[in-house]
Amino acid sequence: KVRVRFAPSPTGPLHIGGVRTALFNYLFAKKHEGDFVLRIEDTDQTRYVEGAEDYIVEALNWLNIPYDEGPGKEGDAGPYRQSERKGLYREYADKLLASGNAYYAFDTAEELAEKRAEHEAQKETFIYNWHNREELNNSLALSEEETKQKIESGEPYVIRFKAPENEELDLQDEIRGDIQVNTKVLDDKVLFKSDGMPTYHLANIVDDHLMKITHVIRGEEWLPSLALHVLLYRAFGWEAPKFAHLPLILKPTGKGKLSKRDGDKMGFPVFPLEWKDPKTRDIASGYREDGYLPQTVLNMLVFLGWNEGEGSEKEIYTLEELTQAFSLAHVSKGGSKFDPEKTKWFQHHYLQEQDNVVLAEQFLPILKEKNIDPALTYVEEIVKTIKERATFVSDFWELSSFYFEAPTDFDAKAAKKAWKEGTAEIMQNVKNIIAEVEDYNQENLQENVKGWITNEGIGFGKVMQPLRLSLVGEMKGPDLFHIMTSIGKEETLKRIDFAIE
Ligand code: GLU
Repeated sequence: KVRVRFAPSPTGPLHIGGVRTALFNYLFAKKHEGDFVLRIEDTDQTRYVEGAEDYIVEALNWLNIPYDEGPGKEGDAGPYRQSERKGLYREYADKLLASGNAYYAFDTAEELAEKRAEHEAQKETFIYNWHNREELNNSLALSEEETKQKIESGEPYVIRFKAPENEELDLQDEIRGDIQVNTKVLDDKVLFKSDGMPTYHLANIVDDHLMKITHVIRGEEWLPSLALHVLLYRAFGWEAPKFAHLPLILKPTGKGKLSKRDGDKMGFPVFPLEWKDPKTRDIASGYREDGYLPQTVLNMLVFLGWNEGEGSEKEIYTLEELTQAFSLAHVSKGGSKFDPEKTKWFQHHYLQEQDNVVLAEQFLPILKEKNIDPALTYVEEIVKTIKERATFVSDFWELSSFYFEAPTDFDAKAAKKAWKEGTAEIMQNVKNIIAEVEDYNQENLQENVKGWITNEGIGFGKVMQPLRLSLVGEMKGPDLFHIMTSIGKEETLKRIDFAIE
């Protein structure tokens, strides 16, 4: 059975890349009728941010891609927070020590920094491994007896993986195909730290194994760890899962990796949280807060690296359709540009699909803040008329204020164009025509006003433009007869009067 996991570290709000990883895992799991597991990788206590886990869960739920197993949804493979699994990792580090695949190292941070600096001065990369230990003159050269003594005397140590010396590895990636790596270039990574905690590498592999993960789908930034991870599986004698590394997400310009500075918020649906980490506090607003719909975000995310395949021009996908269509074979290797404009395009599309009553209900509080308290049915009617021009609910006011209050001033440029000599008189006449409409509805209004214009032989624009200016205040807005009907006869006449003055 397919089992995949999303394994974020709770270090702050999710970024686009993180949510995309979650989505691709979810889609892959659902497509194969498998399980989508959430595992919280919180072994690095220095980077832990209070509330970040809640936030991740909330984001997945908001997007409608809930996990099947994870914190709060216990399954057979729990617990799902690494901090709660703390006790089980040491045993695995010991196994590797016993089999000769790992060793104790006592280098201090200063020693390592010094070595690194020496190498950098020579323009060489510093690679720390068992096989160059003599040359590095570090603690690796200790005998077993010396090692034991150091440990007993309480000297801080780490446990490092011992990578093979010079082996050509043939790695497989579901998206990238074959990847060759020689172990010469690998550092012997720390697996277990002196604070008694495993590092990401050890905990990640042990947990993927214990949780019976079949496919590891994650961001490209983890590709450099692939060799180590494959070697770890081998050292444990476990079958490795399949790996798929998702492409980088690039700036809209395509130059470089997307960063927070690229304008559009990276902070993903953020809800009020007391961030402990001051560095992340500045992300006060995410997609949800800015009025994006979950469907928009899903649709935007899925195209960050995936498409249905050659010839497919389909752009709008429901979650249901995505779970059918998704496949790793159609995930690209190359970086994928984040496109804020396209995101808005999706949002416009999905806003149109929203129920008018729902939208009206969301618009009401905005109106109330302006001390306007109309009936819901009235707002619903307005929303129906203007939403085609809107991308967000927050656009509604700008597009419809004239349905709720009379213009107080007139757009100067428009006024100059629309209001000429003789206009006042024309407006006076139109006003009389409107006043005479007995059964005041859109159809009758239109018939009478248009009929009058034709009879008089005045240009259409000569009437309709100043009329629009009077009612709206500028040259925008939907059908004038709709506006007149909505605001009512009395208000219409009042606004024309005001404009004439
Ligand atoms: N905890 C890692 C992260 O924060 C997980 C990487 C992986 O999926 O292996 O991205």
